[in-house]
Amino acid sequence: MNRQRFLPRERFQSLIDQLKAAGYDVVGPQVRDHAIVFDALTKVEQLPIGITDEQAPGRYRLEKSESRRCFDWATGAQAIKPMTFVARETLWQSERLPGGGISFHDTLTETRPVAIIGVRACDLAALSIHDHHFMRGAHPDPQYSQRRQSLFLIAVHCMRSAATCFCTATGDGPQARSGYDLVLSELDTGFILEAHTGRGLDIVLQMETEAVTAEQTEQADAGILRAARQQHRTLPAGPLQEKLVSAVEHPHWQTLNDRCLSCGNCTAVCPTCFCQTHVDEISLDGQQASHVRQWESCFNPDHSHIHGIVIRSERSHRYRQWLTHKFGTWEEQFGRSGCVGCGRCITWCPVGIDVTGELAVLCKRNEP
Ligand code: SF4
Ligand code: SF4
Repeated sequence: MNRQRFLPRERFQSLIDQLKAAGYDVVGPQVRDHAIVFDALTKVEQLPIGITDEQAPGRYRLEKSESRRCFDWATGAQAIKPMTFVARETLWQSERLPGGGISFHDTLTETRPVAIIGVRACDLAALSIHDHHFMRGAHPDPQYSQRRQSLFLIAVHCMRSAATCFCTATGDGPQARSGYDLVLSELDTGFILEAHTGRGLDIVLQMETEAVTAEQTEQADAGILRAARQQHRTLPAGPLQEKLVSAVEHPHWQTLNDRCLSCGNCTAVCPTCFCQTHVDEISLDGQQASHVRQWESCFNPDHSHIHGIVIRSERSHRYRQWLTHKFGTWEEQFGRSGCVGCGRCITWCPVGIDVTGELAVLCKRNEP
């Protein structure tokens, strides 16, 4: 069978139904509090039908359109990061034993299989970075690994870019190329489904689909091209490590010091940021303790608190650390930049700091 099939819009519910029949909890994008987020999905009507987004530095607005499309928006407030690297979780618990010893229990529980509909190319690229970090080292993270292995991913090729998107500059989108089971191209009349794994194909075979016409393929290709052409933000020619490291004394860091609020929004929405902190929460009677992991941000002064000293006490130092690591030294560590061009840090920065603009200034000349 050709791995591409057409699913008319009025039969889109059958995809959710088949995933449920195959034993998956289904998750998809939905509007909550004026933003698009991922949540449990049972009905097609829950998807953001006829919703588009307007994004700019420090600005995110949803708008109604006449379209019947479900994915006619660029990126939501969060990627799928919270579903694999959760914001706060207990890793283990301990308790005092009557004889004076301590017992430890891990808190790993069974994870149900989850199918996520609507994963974008940039978010798949970020997931691949997290897989590398959490699963491929000498000590794979059990919590992350278990959740990650339970995922069935249904990607969507982007046919519309926000003004803040720059995945063409990082090479990660707008077309989803790998890392998924199924991919959708949304047309006005329905969806081209393309299976990339055996289990993806099994789902497609259960549905009543049609052959894909040449015209539908052309429409899908044109949509992806349109999304690419809508992007205007660029990055300085790389690699950026040397340029950023040699710009360590650049006066522009002071400008950023004066603008940045150190709120950490950029790291919370970034699909590749994975800094974390660990705390032990002890019961009042001192008999039990829970070891908790939670998201941390390098914009938090305490993040660089070592041996009684906050190493990056100035906001400019923290911003410099974030930008230089993300776009420069990350390359040395992981073999690629830590940015997938989703643009979220630009949209969700309350003062509209724009990484592409800041990099252009910082990399223009290396000396202050
Ligand atoms: S640095 Fe900004 S644009 Fe790049 S992946 Fe993170 S949030 Fe997206
Ligand atoms: S760059 Fe923007 S989002 Fe990030 S910490 Fe500073 S003010 Fe907050």
